[in-house]
Amino acid sequence: MSKEQLECSFCGRNKADTNLLIAGLDAHICDRCIEQAHGIVLEDVKKEDEAGLTNAELKLRKPQDIKTFLDEYIIGQEFTKKVMSVAVYNHYKRLLQPASDDDVEIQKSNILMVGQTGTGKTLIAKTIARMLNVPLAIVDATVLTEAGYVGEDVESILTRLLQAADYNLEKAQTGIVFIDEIDKIARKSDNPSITRDVSGEGVQQGLLKLLEGTVVNVPPKGGRKHPDQKFIEVNTENILFIAGGAFDGIEKVIRKRLNMQAVGFSASMSNDDVKDQDNILKYIIPKDVKDFGMIPEIIGRLPVLTHMDPLDAGTLRAILTEPKNAIIKQYTKLFGMDDITFTITDGALEYIVDKAIEYKLGARGLRSLCEAIFTDAMFELPSSDDKEFRVTKTYAESKLDKSGIKKQLKAVV
Ligand code: ADP
Repeated sequence: MSKEQLECSFCGRNKADTNLLIAGLDAHICDRCIEQAHGIVLEDVKKEDEAGLTNAELKLRKPQDIKTFLDEYIIGQEFTKKVMSVAVYNHYKRLLQPASDDDVEIQKSNILMVGQTGTGKTLIAKTIARMLNVPLAIVDATVLTEAGYVGEDVESILTRLLQAADYNLEKAQTGIVFIDEIDKIARKSDNPSITRDVSGEGVQQGLLKLLEGTVVNVPPKGGRKHPDQKFIEVNTENILFIAGGAFDGIEKVIRKRLNMQAVGFSASMSNDDVKDQDNILKYIIPKDVKDFGMIPEIIGRLPVLTHMDPLDAGTLRAILTEPKNAIIKQYTKLFGMDDITFTITDGALEYIVDKAIEYKLGARGLRSLCEAIFTDAMFELPSSDDKEFRVTKTYAESKLDKSGIKKQLKAVV
């Protein structure tokens, strides 16, 4: 074949009409056909990926493996990690169960996590979603209101999940929803000034069906429902709901119950039995959550109740350096990208931890403190010849004094 006669063996275009014509053994292919073929390959891979998320491929790890995975990212919180590992395992076992004739139906193991902010509740939910490779929607219960009021309908939770799943319905239906600040929708019965409990009990009622498993018409783009909108039907049967909240003041409820029992029943806990006075939350039972103002039906649909331990200095210190993506490891990497060797002394680490405790910021404050201390260096070092950055306690102190963060943080506390 002469040069002029060369053509694409797929579409028949002449070489002159193509940008590129690649020769094979016995045939030629032009740039357009390559692109098209590439598109087909990608589409096929995508389909396989999507199919891959059907039940058969959902990776089921054993509880101990789940816990080992969580250990890499979450410091402490041993009880919660163990309880969550079992709950997640059982939840996905339930998804994978073959249809059987016996009447034993495994029920959902939705989870309620009670603990101060910044103790890792969201982190645990995120880590589990990452491990299982399922979509995760994080929603704030405080924005939810009953239909008809200003705020978001309860269904908006599922809009978020659909978005997190790139509108892949099948994926969304096996995803995880983390509802933060669930305690804020507790019934505020002790507040006489509230005549209509807009954000409280009505929302709890709205959540009930979702938690239990039902088919909901979800507006795919969010917003209020209106008649002309197209809906996507989402079945919540296999969605795992994890609710979290600080439940400020629940310690009082727990203490009261423990003391009352000590008076009423000789065999129950006395104050001496309550060994861990600093961590009263660990004695929490569902009744305390009910007495706090959650309706019993909600508590029934969040059958796995767990608590977060407060973060002490040792834990905070470990959070700085130990998890797989620990804050200090992240800075080391950032500086490393500019060929700068970053080191930090024990004294400086302890100083950061002390400040986080002093400002009552928990783990959340560690990051802001680090930013305040390292910002000058991150600004200056990349343009200088300095290839070493060593942070001592004195250095940290001087940067923090200068940064004004002290004032900001003190204002918050
Ligand atoms: P919560 O949801 O309980 O308010 P988060 O999970 O959002 O708290 O925690 C805030 C940040 O603090 C996380 O991004 C994480 O960096 C850090 N953190 C909190 N608790 C832990 C923990 N137990 N282990 C590791 N990091 C933690």
